[in-house]
Amino acid sequence: MMKLIEDLWFSRRDLISDGLDRSLEYIGRIIPLKIHSIPCGTKCWTWTVPEKWSVNEAYIEDSKGKRLLDLKDHPLHILSYSLPIDRVVSKEELMAHLHSNPKRPGAIPFEFKYYEKDWGFCIEHNKLKNFKGSEFKVFIDSKFEKGSLKVGEYTIKGETDKTIVLVGHICHPAQVNDDLAGVAVLVDIAKDLSKRKNHFTYKFLILPETIGSIAYLSQNEKIIPKLKYGLFLEMLGNSNVHALQLTRQGNTRLDRIARSVMKRKLKGFNEGAFRKVVGNDEMVFNGPGVNVPMISVSRWPYPEYHTSDDNPSIISEKRLIESKNLVLEMLKVIDSDYTPKRKFKGPVFLSGCDLWVDWRENRELNRNIEQIMLRLEGDQSVFDIAEELGLEFEDVFNYVNKFYKKGLVEKNPA
Ligand SMILES: [Zn+2]
Repeated sequence: MMKLIEDLWFSRRDLISDGLDRSLEYIGRIIPLKIHSIPCGTKCWTWTVPEKWSVNEAYIEDSKGKRLLDLKDHPLHILSYSLPIDRVVSKEELMAHLHSNPKRPGAIPFEFKYYEKDWGFCIEHNKLKNFKGSEFKVFIDSKFEKGSLKVGEYTIKGETDKTIVLVGHICHPAQVNDDLAGVAVLVDIAKDLSKRKNHFTYKFLILPETIGSIAYLSQNEKIIPKLKYGLFLEMLGNSNVHALQLTRQGNTRLDRIARSVMKRKLKGFNEGAFRKVVGNDEMVFNGPGVNVPMISVSRWPYPEYHTSDDNPSIISEKRLIESKNLVLEMLKVIDSDYTPKRKFKGPVFLSGCDLWVDWRENRELNRNIEQIMLRLEGDQSVFDIAEELGLEFEDVFNYVNKFYKKGLVEKNPA
C-alpha cells in the first residue's frame, strides 16, 4: 500500500487530467481495471462533465522579476482548474486570487474551482509577507480541452449478482491521506477478495469525486438495482481513531455489522449519521434516485487535511493494514451471514448429536446454547442472533453450522 502511495502521491491527479488517467493505468497493473471513458460535455443527470485541464507553468514575480511563487516547487501552488493568465496585476487583485490557510501557516492549501471559472494560486500563509510592492506579474499556462472523465472499475463475481460496491476517489493532487490512502486500502481489499469464493459480487470503483460517481451511475443506470450496499473508504492512514458514518437509512444490516465489528475490533471509534461525519461520493450513491445504503469508513478528522502537510509522513502502513482488516471483517460477516431455519422438534439432544459446548472451551457460548437453539425459527440471521446475545459472530456462525451439517437447520438468505 505504501508503494502505491509513494509512486502516485505527488502526481497531478486533477479531476479530468492525464495525471489521473496515468494513476488509473498504474493501478490497472495491480488489479485488472476496466476503464470507463465519459466524454467531456456529456450530460449526466443535472450535471455536465467538465473539460480536461492541464497546467504547464505558473509563477508570480514582483516588479523586479523576483519569483515569489513557482509551480515547479510544489503541485499545490496552483488552484486546480485555474484559468490561464499572463498579466501585471495590482496587489489588491492578486491577494483576491491567492489562497492561504492561516490555521496552518506553514502549509500550502489544496484548493480547486472546477465549475466556477477563476484563476488563482495557493501559498503558505506565512509567505504572504514577502509580497511587497504594488504590482506583480502573474503567469499561468493552463489549458482546457476536450477529453474524457475516467472511472476505474473492477468487478469480482460472486454466487449472486447482488453487489457490494466499494468506492474511493483519486482526484486530489499531491494529497496522501485524502485520497490515496483510501484507494490503496481499496486495491488491497480487492486483491484479497479476488482470491476468495464470495457470496456477493464485489465492485470496486476508483474515480474523480462526485462527478465521477454521477457520470458512472448516470451512464450505467441498469446496474443500480443490483447494488445492495456500498462502502466509501478514505483517510485511513492518519493517527486518529476510526470514524463510521452510517448510511442514509441508518439502520441497515451493513450499519449494524459495521458498528458491531468496530466495537469488537477497536479500542474506540466515532460514529455519526449520514453526511454528519464526512462528505464524499456517498451523497451520489446513497442520494436521490440511487439510494444504495453506503457507509463511510475513515479516520476523520485530521489537522493536515487539504494542505501540503497531507503527505506520506502523516500515515503509516500499520494503520492502513488495521483499516483494511477492519473492512475485510465487515465484508466477511455480511458475505457469510444467513438465516437458519429449524427442521427439528423439541430441544435437540445436544450431547447425543455432538452439539454440546464445553464451558471450559467457550464459556460464553456454553451459557447461550439454549438461547441460540430458541432463535433458529427463520426470522433471525446468524448475525442477528450474535448481536442480540452479545456473542462473537464467528462463534455463533461455527456453532449454527454444526446444526446445518447435521441436517437440523436449513439455510435461507439473511
Ligand atoms: Zn478532499
